[in-house]
Amino acid sequence: MNLTPNVAEVRQVEERKTGKRSTREWQQMDAAHHLHPFSDAASLNAQGCRVITHADGVYLWDSEGNKIFDAMSGLWCVNIGYGRKELAEVAYQQMLELPFYNTFFKTTHPPVVELSALLAEVAPEGFNHVFYTNSGSEGNDTVIRMVRHYWASLGQPSKKTIISRINGYHGSTIGGASLGGMSYMHEQGDLPIPGIVHIEQPYWYANGGDLTPEEYGLKAARELEKKILELGVENVAAFIGEPVQGAGGIIIPPSTYWPEIQRICDQYGILLVADEVICGFGRTGHWFGSQYFGIRPHLMTIAKGLSSGYQPIGGVLVHDQVAKVLAESGDFNHGFTYSGHPVAAAVAAENIRILKRERIIEKMREDVMPYAHKLWHDAFDNHPLVDDVRTLGFFFAVTLVEDKASRKRYANGGELALRCRDICFANNLVMRATGDSMISAPPLTMTRAEADEFVAKAKACVDQLARELGRL
Ligand SMILES: *Cc1c(COP(=O)(O)O)cnc(C)c1O
Repeated sequence: MNLTPNVAEVRQVEERKTGKRSTREWQQMDAAHHLHPFSDAASLNAQGCRVITHADGVYLWDSEGNKIFDAMSGLWCVNIGYGRKELAEVAYQQMLELPFYNTFFKTTHPPVVELSALLAEVAPEGFNHVFYTNSGSEGNDTVIRMVRHYWASLGQPSKKTIISRINGYHGSTIGGASLGGMSYMHEQGDLPIPGIVHIEQPYWYANGGDLTPEEYGLKAARELEKKILELGVENVAAFIGEPVQGAGGIIIPPSTYWPEIQRICDQYGILLVADEVICGFGRTGHWFGSQYFGIRPHLMTIAKGLSSGYQPIGGVLVHDQVAKVLAESGDFNHGFTYSGHPVAAAVAAENIRILKRERIIEKMREDVMPYAHKLWHDAFDNHPLVDDVRTLGFFFAVTLVEDKASRKRYANGGELALRCRDICFANNLVMRATGDSMISAPPLTMTRAEADEFVAKAKACVDQLARELGRL
């Protein structure tokens, strides 16, 4: 069975629609009409965008015919890899059958029902309900409204404040960006909104000082306890965190962190929200990051890997404890036109069926994951330019450092990482620079041979930067 799309066929269809344009033309039209997310328009347009035209497996192709290793799975989402024809077929069939209907007014449709039941099956014990959105940001906006509605329904309307973390990422809507702890996002538009406060992130390498990672993990978690006591528990609704911080730079918390957070949430009776937008659907080698860390959340935000990025869809998985209260508290005045969109739901359901049927997560965890971890550590553990070499599931990261013994970072580390990312681009490897870290999250379907290629390329790029800096 040939599951990969016929690339030549796809290209023909594309050219029939648009005529055959040159890269330069695409770039000029893009510069003239398209505002990019998280980009400096002037410098982007001066340089010209890279134009990605098609993809298959772990590879992208650009309009110049370059074959590029996508070690970021798009934006942490194409967990299943590119080019799965089944997903295209499911979308096509669903569009013919029922391209849209809403789920607002006493109505449902088969794809959203099937997806909801599948999610209850793969989610941890007690998660039997889901509220749909189009994105992770909207999922987290939903979390804000849902936890406040929950407490109000229980007669505790003062429990409104949500505690999150500096350098956490929870999306880019006003709510999502407020929950997030990115100061450069807060600066634009007077964020965070009231009722959201931030505590320290569990980033031992940066903040741990002389403490062991385990000691520091407890200290960072106890910031939550301090904050709850400072605000008054009668005012605190929830704590939200990513099991592993993704956009913040693949920050893996010390082993003591999540158990202590769990203890504190339990002791004070506040809701625990796991933002599983990146960690969910296999990234950690388990269906959910909460399972990897043994976290027992009340809500889990999902998006990205839910559909492997083939359709925009997100949502909030709701634990029975919360669902029970919501079920008895009248209207929840919240929702989106496209909540549970039939095409997106059908594609997400098929994505989950493929993950299950092909045991993609289990196979990755048992085989390529440990293999690739070893490759990564062999490549970087003794590298002169990098430290804090980290792997977890299909997360891979290193930090560029000036001196390993003293954990001394470069003052211009961010600049150097961007330089390294450009070297990666020039060598047809997509990795991301976050602060002074080089990070990556390849598709879960990466083979051993592809892992060899990925790590060899990543090392060659870091080597090149090290040579340019006279460190190699
Ligand atoms: C990407 C991301 C979001 C936001 O999702 P969007 O679909 O971009 O709105 C939220 N939380 C986490 C952890 C993310 O990585």
